[in-house]
Amino acid sequence: MKTTIACPTCQTPISIEASGLLKGTQYTCINCNTKVSLSSDSAPQVKNAVEEFRKLLRNKGEKN
Ligand SMILES: [Zn+2]
Repeated sequence: MKTTIACPTCQTPISIEASGLLKGTQYTCINCNTKVSLSSDSAPQVKNAVEEFRKLLRNKGEKN
């Protein structure tokens, strides 16, 4: 499942694969080259993004 998170440094949206992120895959901001992964300082933000994404999926499911 693909989602985007805001870069913790420059707020540029970074396209990520949430499942890959949970496995420890590192993503790089295309604007400032900040590395984003669950093991970095951005972990809370990433977790929030994943949780928000799951909520969206759940909401969609309820409506359909
Ligand atoms: Zn950035």
